[in-house]
Amino acid sequence: MRDFSANHEALSINTATVRKQWPLDEIIEACARRGIRAISPWRDQVANVGMKAIARQLKDTGLALSGYCRGGFFPAADKAGFIRALDDNRRAIDEAKSLNAPCLVLVVGSLPGALTGAPAHRDIARAREEVFEGIAQSLEYAVEAGMPLAIEPLHPMQAADRACVNTLEQALDICDRLDPKASRGLGVAVDIYHVWWDPKLKEQIFRAGGGRILAYHVCDWLVPTKDLVNDRGMMGDGVIELKKCRGWVEESGYAGFSEVEIFSDHWWSQPGDYVLDTCIERHGRCV
Ligand code: ZN
Repeated sequence: MRDFSANHEALSINTATVRKQWPLDEIIEACARRGIRAISPWRDQVANVGMKAIARQLKDTGLALSGYCRGGFFPAADKAGFIRALDDNRRAIDEAKSLNAPCLVLVVGSLPGALTGAPAHRDIARAREEVFEGIAQSLEYAVEAGMPLAIEPLHPMQAADRACVNTLEQALDICDRLDPKASRGLGVAVDIYHVWWDPKLKEQIFRAGGGRILAYHVCDWLVPTKDLVNDRGMMGDGVIELKKCRGWVEESGYAGFSEVEIFSDHWWSQPGDYVLDTCIERHGRCV
């Protein structure tokens, strides 16, 4: 297992962590100043500054990407909506390619309209079928573009509105069906916040192996958790056995970045420099 206490070479910052403090160009500057080697930006953050400017800045600062957030949200109320979702995923793949991302992260979606409180139907099995079909079709385009797709299972508390793929096992079943030989770049993003509770976690991490794990996201699970989306904890402040989990992930063959991703009203209210310094310190001590 790698020693994270000596330096923060393996650390990546998911730029949602400081999205309320700074626009993306300032986040990149703040990361570069600290010798952080990688980030994982969101599409809206890139669009707000401009794709060309961000691509240039990444090149100038030498920062790598550990992923690009995000594609997915395939299920739709009707056929036209599903086609729009596929179009949008092709654009996301193109953007990921422009930024030299190692993968596009997929938050697959679930009941259409649920995110805004107005689900078009309640048929989660239908949503799962559309997710499978959406990934299948997007994978064709992604293979041609040379862009790996990382399915991110989300905690079941988000099964209605954000993702109907909620366990690593479900995600890997999709990978096995669509890319049985692991030769087409379909894999998973293991976000420990979403999967830490799973009794099958260890066995599924070993099933995935290094080849299928395309990204590893860390933060912590707070007790009590006060918000279903925006109350993630800083590493060390919660109950996830982060070192044990990283041990399994590395033993399975994963040797990529360890990406800190914290959506938190608390941390968004702190100065950005303090948040990044805390991420570095906790990453070295607790992950
Ligand atoms: Zn994540």
